[in-house]
Amino acid sequence: MISGHSLPTPVRVRFAPSPTGTLHVGSARTALYNYLCARHQHGIFVLRIEDTDAARSTRDFEQSILDDLAWLGLEWDEGLDKGGDFAPYRQSERAAAGLYAGYAGRFLDESKAYHCFCSQGRLEQLKQECLSRNEMPKYDRRCAAISRDQAEAKLAAGEPATIRFRVPDGDVTVDDLIHGRTVFPSGVIGDFIIIRSDGAPSYNFAAVVDDIEMQITHVIRGEDHLTNTARQLLIYRALAKEPPSFAHHSLIMGPDGGKLSKRHGATSVGDFKRLGYLPGAIINYLALLSWSPVAGKEKLSLEEMEQQFELTRVAKSPAIFDIQKLNWLNGLYIRGLDAAAFHAAVEPFLQDAAAGLSSSGRLAVAEAAVQTSAVTLADAGPLVKDFFRMAPLRGEGEEVEIRDEQGRKVLELAIGMLDKLTLSYEWDSDDYMSLSLKAPDDIAAARDWIGKLKKVCQQDGIPAKRLYRTLRIALTGRTSGPELVYLLAGLGSDTVRERLRSALAFAG
Ligand code: GLU
Repeated sequence: MISGHSLPTPVRVRFAPSPTGTLHVGSARTALYNYLCARHQHGIFVLRIEDTDAARSTRDFEQSILDDLAWLGLEWDEGLDKGGDFAPYRQSERAAAGLYAGYAGRFLDESKAYHCFCSQGRLEQLKQECLSRNEMPKYDRRCAAISRDQAEAKLAAGEPATIRFRVPDGDVTVDDLIHGRTVFPSGVIGDFIIIRSDGAPSYNFAAVVDDIEMQITHVIRGEDHLTNTARQLLIYRALAKEPPSFAHHSLIMGPDGGKLSKRHGATSVGDFKRLGYLPGAIINYLALLSWSPVAGKEKLSLEEMEQQFELTRVAKSPAIFDIQKLNWLNGLYIRGLDAAAFHAAVEPFLQDAAAGLSSSGRLAVAEAAVQTSAVTLADAGPLVKDFFRMAPLRGEGEEVEIRDEQGRKVLELAIGMLDKLTLSYEWDSDDYMSLSLKAPDDIAAARDWIGKLKKVCQQDGIPAKRLYRTLRIALTGRTSGPELVYLLAGLGSDTVRERLRSALAFAG
């Protein structure tokens, strides 16, 4: 055995990804529930890498999973990169140390497992026969009767073999903190492989051995593992070990009810990161997919979730991925950032848009404007571009307002008050930070000017809404976009004057 801890332990949970792909949002949710459970109970969150499938596991996937977990803020206490009393935390290294072979050897000695020499071809044929009879594929125990001596002789002669667990008769009952009780009747589970012919442990075997060795108290994972849990319980029983508590959460479904997959669009944490979602919004959204906080408040920081999270409040119904809700939360998180944090987050998304701007100061104001309306950070590029680019006035559809009597009146009044719009901003410096600090003055000046203009318009019976719409059309050629005060501050006095005048000329 690799470790020898025997003290009673607090809550210990683990996230155990297989590094055969990038981190799917479903797995991120599993990691989150484990993390929250650990934090809520002041327990330990372990990160273990299940890389016994050597053909499909890579170090690159492993690193990207670690990076994504760290980006999401799900810091683990023990495990890969961090170390701990139960190291190593990579199953390939634990296998190399002979851990699983040792457990399997004990099972062989106690006749709880046996060598199986059946070829792949035979097993495939068996499977097809079962399927053609509409039965679940199950091993027919052909090798179960081979004696230990006979098996040793075959092995010595170089015959390849797996090791199978000898499933005893009797029902297997899984009691689950989310699902309640599921009974697997005697006979449905066939003798399953615990050590493959290449010597690597199967998932079910390695997971149990490690959960025992690492003193895991709660296993929280997706409900696709429920049938594995029945097998795993048999292994605990054979080892005379108390199993941990189990909690299988529902899987994430696409809007069509099928398991969330590429055909629904983005599925990995990396995809959402590239699309401009903030880690806090993703975490918050994933938590809410099947967990309901007591107080009903939906926007919750990780700390708030840590305080409130209870496995008993996780629903067992399938979780439907609702991109609109994620978008809504992401917008809230974007608006909740301070200017410096927003700048840092949005910068990678602005490469193209920013390249077209002559001054970084204008970009600062554009960023501030974009922050008020962007749904994702990726929206920022086009929004920043649009911010400075006038669309041609058409005077049709919704824009017809610019040509009628009230529209013309707004433009005349605005032009008449331009001398009161003093935007003192220096646009040509390249010092981003000092400029962004100056920008609020002009935003305040623009707000003040619009306030005065609103009063003047009211005296003429022109409602504020009408004023805003007409100004927006005159300044951008569009009917929606960033807040007007940012537009004015970002465009500067000269451009504002120029555009209002040409809009009035257009209105005739
Ligand atoms: N390596 C398994 C997976 O990624 C872990 C399942 C478990 O938590 O036991 O699905």
